[in-house]
Amino acid sequence: MKKIRVTIWNEFKHEKNNPDVAAIYPKGIHGCIGDFLSECDDVEVRLACLDDPDHGIPNEVLDNTDVLIWWGHCYHDAVSDERVEYVRQRVYDGMGFIACHSAHHSKPFKRIVGTTGNLSWGDEFHEILWNLKPSHPIAAGIPDKFELESEELYAEPFYIPNPDDLIFGAWYTSGHIFRAGATFTRGLGKIFYFQPGHETCRSFYDKNVQRVLKNAVHWCAPNEVGYEFSNDCPYIKPIV
Ligand code: ZN
Repeated sequence: MKKIRVTIWNEFKHEKNNPDVAAIYPKGIHGCIGDFLSECDDVEVRLACLDDPDHGIPNEVLDNTDVLIWWGHCYHDAVSDERVEYVRQRVYDGMGFIACHSAHHSKPFKRIVGTTGNLSWGDEFHEILWNLKPSHPIAAGIPDKFELESEELYAEPFYIPNPDDLIFGAWYTSGHIFRAGATFTRGLGKIFYFQPGHETCRSFYDKNVQRVLKNAVHWCAPNEVGYEFSNDCPYIKPIV
């Protein structure tokens, strides 16, 4: 069976600096995501962190990654522009990219989709995630809505390009709403943004969150492209 090669990137700082976060995610957020993704027989997981050489994502790793998952929060600026540019290039060439939670402000997400990713935010509230697009593969097996006891408030306006598909919409007890699960395509690459995952919340243990991310890995995995294409896109080939 051909496996989907997933690299899970985490800045991996809160878990070292904040005992409350370490208590929730003793193996790191990336370790937690890796554990539940490894339940899929067709997924192969690799972990990468900010402090690894080349941030754990040298060219040879990215060249052998089908889907890159990104979790970052306070150290976006510490990620080298050169690595970010290679991630962008790989996505445009077909690598899938999943931006979790505060990765809305990560350099790769902003570089790939082309906007600031700015949003409104606030304290932690009870969150309801509504399934807006049950026909989409990322929503497979997800009920009409599911609830997270406590998540950080992310609210509109969210400065993203209009998504290709809006899969989940969030409502918080504060009354705010948010486009919490959205897909984009750039070049050959498929991108998914998903809101849950604040470091002091337990969202990555939620079965629906886990199912969404498993589905997203499968949806974001590159298609087999039926023809040769140039890496120097965009290019114009004479039509004969
Ligand atoms: Zn957060």
